[in-house]
Amino acid sequence: MKNKIKSVKGTYDLLPFEIHKWQEIENKLKKIFSLYNFREIRTPIFEKSKLFSRSVGEFTDIVNKEMYSFLDKGKESLTLRPELTASVVRSYIEHNFQQISPIHKIWYYGPLFRQEKPQAGRYRQFYQFGSEIFGSAYPESDVELIDLAYTIYTKLGLKNFTLYINSLGNKENRSKYIELLKSELLPHKNEMCDNCKNRYENNVLRLFDCKNKICKNIMNEHAPLIIDYLTNEEKDYFNEIKELLENLNIKYKVDPTMVRGLDYYTNMIFEIRSESLGSQDALCGGGRYDNLVEDLGGKSTSAVGFAAGMERLMIAMEKENLFDDELNKLDIYVAIMNENVRNESMKIVKNIRSNNFSVDTDFQRRSVKAMMREANRKKAKFSIVIGENEIQSGEIKIKTMSDGSENTVKIDEISEFLSQNIL
Ligand code: AMP
Repeated sequence: MKNKIKSVKGTYDLLPFEIHKWQEIENKLKKIFSLYNFREIRTPIFEKSKLFSRSVGEFTDIVNKEMYSFLDKGKESLTLRPELTASVVRSYIEHNFQQISPIHKIWYYGPLFRQEKPQAGRYRQFYQFGSEIFGSAYPESDVELIDLAYTIYTKLGLKNFTLYINSLGNKENRSKYIELLKSELLPHKNEMCDNCKNRYENNVLRLFDCKNKICKNIMNEHAPLIIDYLTNEEKDYFNEIKELLENLNIKYKVDPTMVRGLDYYTNMIFEIRSESLGSQDALCGGGRYDNLVEDLGGKSTSAVGFAAGMERLMIAMEKENLFDDELNKLDIYVAIMNENVRNESMKIVKNIRSNNFSVDTDFQRRSVKAMMREANRKKAKFSIVIGENEIQSGEIKIKTMSDGSENTVKIDEISEFLSQNIL
């Protein structure tokens, strides 16, 4: 036997017997996005590498260590997208969205690629859905977006999640704070782990994310918190967001140590974390990014957005038992007794399907007993067995699989029976 070729580490197959769960969530997401009047965008899987280094940030983990980049034939460096906001902003600028309307509410869904260390809830190819609002510098747009994310998890039935918010101030103010942070931490730099020593030089805010005990202690004892250094204007903005959230009854906690891993954020940032997940507990994250459109060559445009992981949502929903087994049930299974009735039976199957009921039948010419086992396995709601008698009389017994009871109906009226008996 030849060697088997396996899937790449950190990737996975979505198999035919589990895909219905994903599709159910995808359909619900689409409905919720349209309730909020967001429109979908689809951008290419790969982009020019400089799009990500210029937006996400040269020294972030994503750009520094995790990008799948390659040279194309023209020798230009391209990258499989590691996140979607940069692509959406690129498209926004390229297609002059601001000339079409001052406000754009956009959502997206698709696969992303990061060369991270795989673990539960962390993959190298993973799916995100997310949304962006362009064109509003007011806190009601931050809250529209947070409300949308919060509503998604609520409507999907999740219970164990918490919204965390923080403010990073604007760019200038943040660079002053970063100087202060560096000077306060300098005396302790040598005690930090190697990763943090590096981060100290290039991405000092990420020191707040280190899980190492020593680093954590240093941060707890010596790191000033950005929220204490906001300007009055930034504080007012943050307070307005909090009031608007309270107004909508959206519960939140302020996490003054939350910094998030991307450079482009300004002012408000947020995360929703699930208590049903392990160490990778962030269901989604986002915030305001008022400079990014300009940084990528567009006109100055205020914007706010979030991105959410699909896999973590699925894991959290499994943990909270939110998948309904009913979901995959087939409406009716049609057992075909023998070849004399095969042609007629195929017509009946087609007819029931044309009335929008899901139907499956046998393709292995097995015994009726084996077919009924199959009907059970496929969780059909009803089943029928078509034989010569049934075709001759034009009547058939429809069996209700949950209790075994039977109803005799005309073959022509099977769909009518189903519509009366399926909710
Ligand atoms: P980020 O784009 O890093 O802000 O991440 C937003 C969300 O995407 C996170 O809260 C996770 O739910 C999800 N996510 C990020 N990286 C991964 C990954 N490597 N594997 C699976 N989900 C991820």
